[in-house]
Amino acid sequence: MTMNETEMNRMVSESVTRYLKRSGAEAFKPAAALIDMDGTLLDSMKGHTQAWERMVSEIGIPCTRDEFYLYEGMTGAETINMLFKRAFGREATAQEKTELYARKTGYFNELPRVGIVPGADRVIAELISKGITRVLVTGSGQLSSLERLDSDFPGGFDHKLRITSHNVEHCKPHPEPYLKAMQLAGVEPWESIALENAPLGVKSASDAGAFTIAVTTGPIPEEEMWKAGADMVLPSMERLAELLPALLAR
Ligand code: MG
Repeated sequence: MTMNETEMNRMVSESVTRYLKRSGAEAFKPAAALIDMDGTLLDSMKGHTQAWERMVSEIGIPCTRDEFYLYEGMTGAETINMLFKRAFGREATAQEKTELYARKTGYFNELPRVGIVPGADRVIAELISKGITRVLVTGSGQLSSLERLDSDFPGGFDHKLRITSHNVEHCKPHPEPYLKAMQLAGVEPWESIALENAPLGVKSASDAGAFTIAVTTGPIPEEEMWKAGADMVLPSMERLAELLPALLAR
């Protein structure tokens, strides 16, 4: 179902009002888009949750596949550490974190290559055409995913404008990844639109002061995104592609 122009304009204006009230910003003038990768650009979350469940079960930690949707945004090392504390009552060693994340990455790479999230290409093309700077903001350090962005989104993501697990001390939900992305783009929070699909990422972006759009591309319900601090929640990147011209016209 598509929205008509009046509905879109109303939704945009309500969201911006909500954002200004929450953030205390005086204006919202989008100049940069700070964009998460897994589940937002790449339709990779089913594969990631499958690979996590396989690796974590193998090492004797009881888990469910869906719980890994909730950890999305954390780095692999942080996720492993959290599971170790839960199951074994101790931190994982640096070596365990490295080895187990490599094993999980290997399992992910064995799966068939995933597609892009439907509509993500239209969103990126619209941002490029309107002169909006794009910065990638991912907790991932997975090369197979990072390297394919050039062919999936030609001209979309400058290699100098990427925040990955290698550039931050604190991962999402800490605001650092999004604050660093704003610095890279040379923009203020009220000039930033963040695109996310996971509650931890939404919290990170929202606390950093960006106008935060959550896209529910996985099983996580809309309310979790509102609770995490989203300013707008949309059912798909396709819907965002429809709405974006109205949002950028502000
Ligand atoms: Mg994500």
